[in-house]
Amino acid sequence: MREACGIFGVYAPGEDVARITFFALFALQHRGQESAGIATSDSKKIQLFARMGLVSQVFSEESLSQLTGNIAIGHNRYSTTGSSRVCNAQPIMVGSGDNAIAVAHNGNIVNSERLHKELCEKGYIFNSSTDSEVIANLIHSAPGKDWMEKIRYAMHRIQGAYSLVILTKDTLFAVRDPFGVRPLCLGRINGFWVVASESCALDHIGALFARDIDPGEIVAIDAKGPQSYHEIVEKKATCIFEYIYFARPDSIVDGRLVYQARLAMGAQLAEEYPVDADLVIGVPDSATVAGIGYATRSGIPHGEGLMKNRYVGRTFISPDQRMRDLGVKMKFNPLPDILRNKRVVLVDDSIVRGTTTPKVINLLRKAGAKEVHMRVCAPPIRYPCFFGVDMASRWELIAAHKSVEEVRDFIGADSLGYISIDGLVKSVGLPGDTFCKACFTGDYPIPVQLEMDKLALELR
Ligand code: SF4
Repeated sequence: MREACGIFGVYAPGEDVARITFFALFALQHRGQESAGIATSDSKKIQLFARMGLVSQVFSEESLSQLTGNIAIGHNRYSTTGSSRVCNAQPIMVGSGDNAIAVAHNGNIVNSERLHKELCEKGYIFNSSTDSEVIANLIHSAPGKDWMEKIRYAMHRIQGAYSLVILTKDTLFAVRDPFGVRPLCLGRINGFWVVASESCALDHIGALFARDIDPGEIVAIDAKGPQSYHEIVEKKATCIFEYIYFARPDSIVDGRLVYQARLAMGAQLAEEYPVDADLVIGVPDSATVAGIGYATRSGIPHGEGLMKNRYVGRTFISPDQRMRDLGVKMKFNPLPDILRNKRVVLVDDSIVRGTTTPKVINLLRKAGAKEVHMRVCAPPIRYPCFFGVDMASRWELIAAHKSVEEVRDFIGADSLGYISIDGLVKSVGLPGDTFCKACFTGDYPIPVQLEMDKLALELR
């Protein structure tokens, strides 16, 4: 399961804004590894550099030194709409001269087909296949006397999940959709202002966290400092998976440190599904903290029975079938001396398709584990996500068509316990009605009728 993107913006005249953005994108690399890009403005023109690859592969000393200016935005991408091609890399730039804007987007909009058609009829030509270019062109073509009015108009037309950073020649805008599906926060650096998908990016560049940007809020940052406009918000629906998996544990999302939420998920699983065992392992890295939480609450020792090779990314996976077959072995190495003859509790963040989990359990058994009891921080995922998470189509989701017992049998575990929805909400520690939980419940906060119709066809 992959998340859509990481975004960042900085308004800091006199500072090396491209380099600040580069380091912030490094900290947000976990949110997208396919492409990276930075756009800067020197108050006269916008410059853009975006390529396929990790942040460290995309930028060189030379490319960074050419990105001069007072304002910058940056983007790490994992594709959820549009294919993995350089033309889909962001930021996206539309317009020209004083009228040019660059846009970076995290999320997924559900009415992009209709808006795309409408914009094509108006004569707009698209260079990519992303919904992000639809957003950029919609803002650019919107009626309004200034960019704030144009952005507000676009917000009334767009349905779905979007956290945006927008660069005009003299202003940085940060926008969070009225449901607040994806996170976005504001920080200060050397008397200037930054915005980022996650607060961990602020920590790495020496910025101070100021606050989360509210659902429905537009923040405009220019020489006068930040000014906010709030759209009416009917219902907040932040993606609860930010706490389970996407966000880094050292990030604060909507006032809650992700590390603490994961620790509580592990403890909750120990309450809901106790078992006699000798060792608790969290699948690294996303479930490491939850593993500690389970161990602490249950009193069963926590250990590292699986080592993760953190440098195996999509980019380096060989197209060669023999290497692909190694799959999970390239990523995880079990420790037989730790696992031999042990009854193991294995804590993971989620089970999506159920393709990886049996292989991990098999690795543990081959390394000598006597029993493997699976505990999962996400309730069964039965519905796909339309808001920027590349999960799977419904027929691929194992919990959509198998009972818990059938999943247990399929993955080869001795027992299986998924956290309850109430237990998950309690662990995050924020009101339950402020989250999107649609992939567990099918109750989407934003109308997704068109997509549901496609889903029905797919299931036929
Ligand atoms: S459907 Fe699931 S993954 Fe998608 S936004 Fe909602 S909670 Fe997050």
